[in-house]
Amino acid sequence: MSQPTVGVLALQGDVREHQRMLADAGAASTPVRTPAELAAVDALVLPGGESTTMWRLARTFGLLEPLRKRIAAGLPAYGSCAGMILLADRIEGGVAGQETVGGMDITVRRNAFGRQVDSFEADLDFPALGAGPLHAVFIRAPWVEKVGDGVEVLARVANGRAAGNIVAVRQGRLLATSFHPELTADARVHALFLDIVKEA
Ligand code: GLN
Repeated sequence: MSQPTVGVLALQGDVREHQRMLADAGAASTPVRTPAELAAVDALVLPGGESTTMWRLARTFGLLEPLRKRIAAGLPAYGSCAGMILLADRIEGGVAGQETVGGMDITVRRNAFGRQVDSFEADLDFPALGAGPLHAVFIRAPWVEKVGDGVEVLARVANGRAAGNIVAVRQGRLLATSFHPELTADARVHALFLDIVKEA
């Protein structure tokens, strides 16, 4: 697969920002709103936004089951923030009945950082990205409360009240971050995802 087709789930959220970032990392991408569009991609980004809205729209558009099937069948996927929530097998703090796509053996806590710290930025040690800290933007972010055996922890919050909490994980072809690299100028997380896509 020399030129994989990367889709960006385009029900809601920061779709264009991810497309710009993928372009910076060297990949063309296409929005995914329908089962037919999903069937045509080799990889998928699930953007930041609002997981409850994306879940409801995915249900309405008949995308939830196709998403579950393709991810279970090995489609490489990267979720940022709300996208991380969608990829989690289990959520804490969801709205009544909130479902996920799942695929990652993680428990994610929605809005985990609390109301006082709605949004914040922090430098993270993220060894899988090579030298240099990653500047991360968190907006009503989740964190990962529990990880299963097959899940690799890629980054944790370094300082402050939330220190030690997991904010980036990988399980095979699935990658998720609590924060939004697509809102910065650093394309290394997207480049890491594209490496996973090329390996697949
Ligand atoms: N709190 C949002 C949710 O539950 C996620 C926020 C974000 O993606 N910036 O979906």
